[in-house]
Amino acid sequence: MTSPFEYAPAPESRSIVDIKPSYGLFINGEFVDGHGKAFKTISPATEEVLAEVAEADEADVEKAVKAARKAYDKVWGPMPGRERAKYLYRIARIIQERGRELAVLESLDNGKPIKESRDVDIPTVAAHFFYYAGWADKLEYSGFGSTPLGVAGQVIPWNFPLLMLAWKIAPALACGNTVVLKPAETTPLTALLFAEICQQADLPPGVVNIVTGAGDTGRALVSHPDVDKVAFTGSTDVGRAIAKAVAGTDKKVTLELGGKAANIVFDDAPIDQAVEGIVNGIFFNQGHVCCAGSRLLVQESVAEEVLDRLKRRMSTLRVGDPLDKNTDIGAINSAEQLARIRELSDIGEAEGAGRWSPACDLPSNGFWFPPTLFTGVTQAHRIAREEIFGPVLSVLTFRTPSEAVEKANNTPYGLSAGVWTDKGSRILHMANQLRAGVVWANTFNKFDPTSPFGGYKESGYGREGGRHGLEAYLKGGVK
Ligand code: NAD
Repeated sequence: MTSPFEYAPAPESRSIVDIKPSYGLFINGEFVDGHGKAFKTISPATEEVLAEVAEADEADVEKAVKAARKAYDKVWGPMPGRERAKYLYRIARIIQERGRELAVLESLDNGKPIKESRDVDIPTVAAHFFYYAGWADKLEYSGFGSTPLGVAGQVIPWNFPLLMLAWKIAPALACGNTVVLKPAETTPLTALLFAEICQQADLPPGVVNIVTGAGDTGRALVSHPDVDKVAFTGSTDVGRAIAKAVAGTDKKVTLELGGKAANIVFDDAPIDQAVEGIVNGIFFNQGHVCCAGSRLLVQESVAEEVLDRLKRRMSTLRVGDPLDKNTDIGAINSAEQLARIRELSDIGEAEGAGRWSPACDLPSNGFWFPPTLFTGVTQAHRIAREEIFGPVLSVLTFRTPSEAVEKANNTPYGLSAGVWTDKGSRILHMANQLRAGVVWANTFNKFDPTSPFGGYKESGYGREGGRHGLEAYLKGGVK
């Protein structure tokens, strides 16, 4: 079925961003050349090279940690909370002012639709800085003391580049820590623009340092002996390697890892709203979402109706230019990620699940994958167990609430879940039974800086966001 709607292209202009041909590292308040090589960052929608970025080696990481330590000892640590708050408020306001620039750059470097970077990512980034600015002079009421840890080494993934940066940097600075942050190698540009924002906000040198690079740079950062706190968001495999690397040291660690969330639709759910929630759950951000509702569990009696309506809705999704304001699904972030999505989808088909995608024309350059669903999926299928991290939905059915709970919890992960039902009592029952850090009821993928987020089991440990998010950056916290 082709889309019944036709729109004229409505691309956002990219003239607002000024991408430099090459970027250095942001250390001690200024951009400096790295000792190592450089790597290219590309637009995944066109494969156009956007810029060359320095790859920090051990000596660069050493320099960045030294700058952060000095800033912690001399300036940021001793600074009263109410003064730190002023900087955080200033950063939050500049993010709002430069919101369009940040959104366009994020969509260019990451491939996500402009309507998401503009309406979700960047406003939530600003909200995080505003929220934690408010905590900076009230830490004594946090329940975790008010003594910072020191230097935080932070490593983040590519799916929400600036939002993950905000989740890491805002609480760390509010609590009085200084940071060295490593963005993902495929999406360094908004972190480097954030570095310019730190300069614009007159943040004291060394309080925020940004070292770009890939796994080796991340490894050098998390294993640096003068880092007091490691905060990591990324895959469970790398999370495991980091847990090993810091075992036996005094470093505090938080790990935000992968997920395989169940989105559970009961037969009394408002079906149209549930279909919107399913679409939002798995196709938002091309499915590159740790808490994506990648397993649809639908009650058998309504399965046919839900699938019919879901297919109709999927046929209206527009895949294409991330900068087009009508685009619903943008580009897959990298060739590597596309290969993984293809491989797991092919395995799903080979294992006997029914594969379906709406007809859609994919651009010839860049990395693309159509919205896809698999029916007849069983719990033994790899597409039901492994994180695909793409726009691919596995559909399973259930008959009773206890079967839904059993299937939903049958995963090594435990990050999030969704429940769709008319009954409040059932929502409460399910929320108690599901082993997931976040349970959304009759909605999905809602984020707010006041609300803690984090996982159980192989989805990691520690919480980000809300009052709980302060615990990771204060000495009074348990971890
Ligand atoms: P990844 O683990 O491959 O990389 C994450 C970051 O770690 C990157 O910056 C990478 O350069 C760095 N890295 C790689 N090897 C390292 C090492 N040995 N030591 C230190 N750093 C290293 O993950 P990814 O592919 O970038 O991101 C996708 C994953 O992130 C998915 O599994 C997703 O579920 C997860 N994720 C989780 C959350 C959450 O809050 N739980 C949020 C977003 C993404």
